[in-house]
Amino acid sequence: MKTMETKILTEKQIDQAAEIIKTGGLVAFPTETVYGLGADALNAEAVAKVYEAKGRPSDNPMIVHIGRASDIGQLTPRLSPDIVTLIENFWPGPLTLVVKRKKGVPDRTTGGLDTVGVRMPDSPIALELINRADCPIAAPSANLSGKPSPTRAEDVIEDLKGKVDAIIKGPDCRVGIESTVLDVSGEVPTILRPGIITPQHIEAAIGKKVEMDPALYINRPRDVNAQEGSSDKPPLDFDDEEFQPKSPGMKYRHYAPKADMTVIEGNRDKVKEEIERLKALNERLGNKVGVILFEERAFIEAAHDFFAKLRDLDRQEVDLILAGALSDTDGVGFAVMNRMLKSAGYNIVRV
Ligand code: AMP
Ligand code: MG
Repeated sequence: MKTMETKILTEKQIDQAAEIIKTGGLVAFPTETVYGLGADALNAEAVAKVYEAKGRPSDNPMIVHIGRASDIGQLTPRLSPDIVTLIENFWPGPLTLVVKRKKGVPDRTTGGLDTVGVRMPDSPIALELINRADCPIAAPSANLSGKPSPTRAEDVIEDLKGKVDAIIKGPDCRVGIESTVLDVSGEVPTILRPGIITPQHIEAAIGKKVEMDPALYINRPRDVNAQEGSSDKPPLDFDDEEFQPKSPGMKYRHYAPKADMTVIEGNRDKVKEEIERLKALNERLGNKVGVILFEERAFIEAAHDFFAKLRDLDRQEVDLILAGALSDTDGVGFAVMNRMLKSAGYNIVRV
């Protein structure tokens, strides 16, 4: 792909960014979760350019970002009482709702699905951009496909300078991991991607049970604290025929740092010991080793820091990353673990 001139804009130049979106161009912008790479969601040609700039597989749908909750009516024909309750409770915020799509939403945007993922971000810059552009904005994360998601302007510039029309240089992202994706297009609300809005938060709002997509437990026992062999369902594997995730993004290996990465899981003291042991061993062999070990149960902080740490360790050119697993079955720690395991290509050492 040929390179182009990328304008680096400040938050005072949102009008320029909005004009680019209106005329079918690409703008990377901050949200509260991670930086997004946006295009007019209803312009199939513009959306096609997002896939090209990111090198993203074309069956991986984009999340459509809206500036007013009521704008969801442009995208879906039907709002159930649950959907209305979820919007009232969690928007603006890091919850994407997968709903039936209206015909006007291009296949390009939804990856050909008959549903569309929609969210209203909780970021003044993102909201101003969407409202000034006066169209819904399709935006996946503003990284090259496969790399860690960008949570800081410098991460976006590193990946996309020369590939997009403009990058809005805003603050670091408050949340640090992508939104929770909740499928509300069928009978049972189902989490397709975990985030900082947890099943417990959602259940408390709508007063009914939320399912977890089985794809979230790939290569994992359902209950990470269970004794080996005691879990009723064996963990699914990437190569299982049964593994048909509803969220197409789930089947791609993701977020990979340049370094080799291993997750160490088990009792916390043992994890620390094993990390020290592996670090010393590898350093003796001349390898540069980076460690990611969060405070116990500091899950929100882990979400905030995880992608940034991966990118920092890549910049330091470490050969190996050793990461301590977070012990959590379905909350914010689980959401961080979902990213950590993908980053490591499910390379797990249990101690
Ligand atoms: P990203 O834009 O990189 O945050 O990725 C968006 C994620 O949302 C992908 O993993 C998609 O698979 C998921 N997603 C978006 N729209 C839908 C949809 N209509 N159905 C299922 N998953 C979706
Ligand atoms: Mg992404």
